[in-house]
Amino acid sequence: FLPRLIASLEQVDQAYIMVKPDGVQRGLVGEIISRFEKKGFKLTGLKLFQCSKELAEEHYKHLNQKSFFPKLIEYITSGPVVSMAWEGVGIVPSARKLIGATDPLQAEPGTIRGDFAVQTGRNIIHGSDSPENGKREIALWFKEGELCEWTPVQEPWLRE
Ligand code: UDP
Repeated sequence: FLPRLIASLEQVDQAYIMVKPDGVQRGLVGEIISRFEKKGFKLTGLKLFQCSKELAEEHYKHLNQKSFFPKLIEYITSGPVVSMAWEGVGIVPSARKLIGATDPLQAEPGTIRGDFAVQTGRNIIHGSDSPENGKREIALWFKEGELCEWTPVQEPWLRE
């Protein structure tokens, strides 16, 4: 009873994870999805999507004063991305660890950027940096009805 009560009190968070256009072009979609699946997080939304300039600018609006902003928008809109919503206790910090440092040359081997990328401007993947941004970004990139609520059969084998 007590462990179950404690587990139910644990906060389930959401993260918006996106394979950027270079990750799609380089054939890394399956590899990236696989890492989140194998870790034990729950996929609740998934689509291949060509995003508009407006959406990219909204997503990265906190960076709009940076010198690299125009190139960043050009990069994100340069081809389809894979938009994903993932869910789990502790998902946001854990996803950031799986992804690795913004600069792939600083990212540890074993992380996605550490294993597959060499430059900040082509760092193949995005992951929300807080649970609040996770919610905000999922609401921005997905329409109502595009997300699925479901219970994976592995759930009792992942958490006691
Ligand atoms: N970026 C860039 N040049 C920089 C810093 C960031 O092109 O000097 C891009 C890069 O694609 C990065 C994104 O802007 O992933 C968002 O930057 P942020 O600092 O939020 O890094 P992240 O959360 O993606 O690791």
